[in-house]
Amino acid sequence: MSTRADLAVSDLAASAYTIPTDQPEADGTFAWDSTTMVVVQARTDDPGLPVGVGWTYAPAAAARLVDDVLAPEVRGRSALDVGAAWEAMVRRVRNAGRQGLAGMAISAVDVALWDLKARLLDLPLNRLWGSCRATVPVYGSGGFTTYDDETLRAQLGGWVEQGIPRVKIKIGESDGTRLDRDLARIAFARSAIGGDTELYVDANGGYTVKQALRAAEAFAGSNVTWFEEPVSSDDVEGLGRLREQLSLDVAAGEYAWDLDGARRLVESVDCLQIDATRCGGYTEWFRIAALAAAHGLEVSGHCAPALHLAVAAATPNLRHLEWFHDHVRIEHLAFEGAPVATGGGVSPADLPGHGLVLREPDLARYRVV
Ligand SMILES: [Mg+2]
Repeated sequence: MSTRADLAVSDLAASAYTIPTDQPEADGTFAWDSTTMVVVQARTDDPGLPVGVGWTYAPAAAARLVDDVLAPEVRGRSALDVGAAWEAMVRRVRNAGRQGLAGMAISAVDVALWDLKARLLDLPLNRLWGSCRATVPVYGSGGFTTYDDETLRAQLGGWVEQGIPRVKIKIGESDGTRLDRDLARIAFARSAIGGDTELYVDANGGYTVKQALRAAEAFAGSNVTWFEEPVSSDDVEGLGRLREQLSLDVAAGEYAWDLDGARRLVESVDCLQIDATRCGGYTEWFRIAALAAAHGLEVSGHCAPALHLAVAAATPNLRHLEWFHDHVRIEHLAFEGAPVATGGGVSPADLPGHGLVLREPDLARYRVV
């Protein structure tokens, strides 16, 4: 008798959607007016059975990489043995490079395969792995350098009203050359949220070590508790110096493309950020989270909150998830069942997989691949 344990992945379908931002967005070192989401759907031979859905935020070329390079490795493999598919994908991109585009493509496939497995077993993903908490804390994230004061006040104030007790703004404007404006925006943000909300800043690598030290000294009165990528994450030694010299938490990890990238950072941060849409999906998330735990660190999910919700609920040493403005908006547009933050947290739905349903008709006008 054949059972669901015998099911194989019959096909991966990749598509890409470019969605304009609601207004121009920029951080310390980058500006954008649209975001491209690459979606992977994983199917079995039985059209009556559920489909797994994964995604990443990557150039549309990642969809081609899924079709041409990864799908042939995954097709025909057991739908339950995600680890074997993951190993095969990583082996296949040896010469193309595991990081960057291939890392994002592997991530989208891995998420789709885990979602497929959980749906075939009729279990929510967080229950399949073993949940640690019913509610996952989030922090509001946006505060782009392109915003005027009123936009910034409305966004930060909206999160505080929602009950989110921590918010993050972008600094390091124009590659760290506008410290005057950074300091004014930090002071303004503090006044907009009041004294009871935690204030985080993210320089996206816009400062040098000395600039970051001077900036932290100058904004000390605003009680900032999280300084993300004060210098480039490539400057691991610089991050480490700042971690030693500053009393606020130094955070990085969004460009840890794999376990080894996370290993290089783990001595230099107070909280390790992980992005399952880049690092190799849920499979690599758990390995990186374990590495962080072995160094006495908590982890924080970077962006894509709907994608991270289940894995965050199942990770013991989790601090919080980033409730990133741009991705919250896109995930609500793209998925039925996208989570809503209430009282400072989000809770996984009691539905199979990650519980999200792709709104293909609504996305059609954004489709580029
Ligand atoms: Mg960041």
